[in-house]
Amino acid sequence: MSEVPIKPSVEIKYTKLLIDGKFVDAASGKTFQTLDPRTGEVIANVAEGDAEDINRAVAAARKAFDEGPWPKMTAYARQKILLRFADLLEQHNDELAALEVWDNGKPYEQAATVEVPMLIRLMRYYAGWADKIHGLTVPADGPFHMQTLHEPIGVAGGIIPWNFPLLMFAWKVGPALACGNTLVLKPAEQTPLTALFAAKLLHEAGLPPGVLNVIPGYGPTAGAALASHMDVDKLAFTGSTETGKIVLELATKSNLKPVSLELGGKSPFIVCEDADIDKAVELAHYALFFNQGQCCCAGSRTFVHESIYDKFVEKAKQRALKRSVGDPFKEGIEQGPQIDTEQFNKILKYIKSGVESGATLESGGERLGDKGYYIKPTVFSNVKDDMLIAKDEIFGPVQTILKFKDLDEVIRRANDTHYGLAAGIFSQNVDTINTLTRALRVGTVWVNCYNLYDAAIPFGGYKMSGHGREKGEYSLENYLQVKAVCTPLVNPAWL
Ligand code: NAD
Repeated sequence: MSEVPIKPSVEIKYTKLLIDGKFVDAASGKTFQTLDPRTGEVIANVAEGDAEDINRAVAAARKAFDEGPWPKMTAYARQKILLRFADLLEQHNDELAALEVWDNGKPYEQAATVEVPMLIRLMRYYAGWADKIHGLTVPADGPFHMQTLHEPIGVAGGIIPWNFPLLMFAWKVGPALACGNTLVLKPAEQTPLTALFAAKLLHEAGLPPGVLNVIPGYGPTAGAALASHMDVDKLAFTGSTETGKIVLELATKSNLKPVSLELGGKSPFIVCEDADIDKAVELAHYALFFNQGQCCCAGSRTFVHESIYDKFVEKAKQRALKRSVGDPFKEGIEQGPQIDTEQFNKILKYIKSGVESGATLESGGERLGDKGYYIKPTVFSNVKDDMLIAKDEIFGPVQTILKFKDLDEVIRRANDTHYGLAAGIFSQNVDTINTLTRALRVGTVWVNCYNLYDAAIPFGGYKMSGHGREKGEYSLENYLQVKAVCTPLVNPAWL
């Protein structure tokens, strides 16, 4: 494995708030630190936006929406800007990836070859939609021309988490701008850097000032101000279910703005008795450990049929022991550090609770090294449904393996959660696949695969995993409203 210098060869250029096309200090003059998860050391001091800055950003977005030119431009003109943005992202692929890794801790290879390319794909996908959004002509019961117009909602607010900072940027910015809205985006306080960089590139591509404003800051201050702002017409939130409830209430109590929510999960990954064990072990491992286990849709309850359970557990343990954990800038590293000390401690607490509640610790279970937030890949077997590690979202590299006897039982147990984000099925039997696919109450089912996030396929949750869908054509509904227009064909009443 190659050694890497502790300071990556990427420059941090943008640390201020982006309001009305300009980088500015916070009104309070305050800054906050963003840290390197590999060491806990400070990477940069970033302007700390709060309610006053949200007011300034919303005013800029309002002006850009009401006075234009963004919503009034031709859709083709908007599309060209979004496509130029994608080209610029491509030119800065490695720089963006390095910045993402430095701020977040994910493996460089994953950021550079999967996530930044996916961001680019998403922006091209949404650019493609810009000139394909239109209403309908509908039949009337009389001599009237009746039609619908699909119009942008206005000023949108976006609040995003730290686990996929650039992808979450794309999931909010892409559809909001393609539909002609303006936007105020609040990145997570742990990972503010890449959203500022990407937003700068979008302005270089020709985005008019005020259309996208980025306000780094904390949730209870900047985030809450955005959610409760009277001049924000729509809110899109991704984060924990707990915070989702707070922002929904703030949005409702202020101006009843519509809210789309992408929240937490406790997704089942079901390995049926006919599975090829080696392949199932590898896929279940990927379903859980990808991105340090920090995925809302992580396959965090691995249900394995009793006939292959013991063999599966042994192989899953061996696979976890082989996982390469270390500096995410090093080649061949599969797992970097967790995002911060809070998540790190939370995960270790869950591991302790798993041991105390009687699950068998097969591997890991402790930190790796003495600096940064690295946790050894952890596998628990003999996990029971009522244990905390089987119920709560751990959001870390902790696989819990549960045993099941038959399909009816696993369906009942897989659905026995307030969450409903995703599920994985591993089987070669088409009847089993069809039965499970229809019975699982989740927004995404991955059959013999996992973690596929194509731009065109919708993503979102059933139950307390959220409202609405992001990605794909469905995501446009979050950013459009429908106007009905009726015009008499002959003899209008007032003439
Ligand atoms: P979080 O809810 O703490 O934070 C998410 C965002 O909300 C951050 O920008 C934060 O600053 C902001 N926030 C926090 N408190 C707020 C408040 N009172 N008012 C307004 N905004 C506030 O979540 P997190 O720890 O950053 O992210 C992890 C969670 O996000 C996990 O539960 C995960 O499942 C979920 N997640 C879901 C998806 C999805 O698509 N469903 C994707 C990624 C993450």
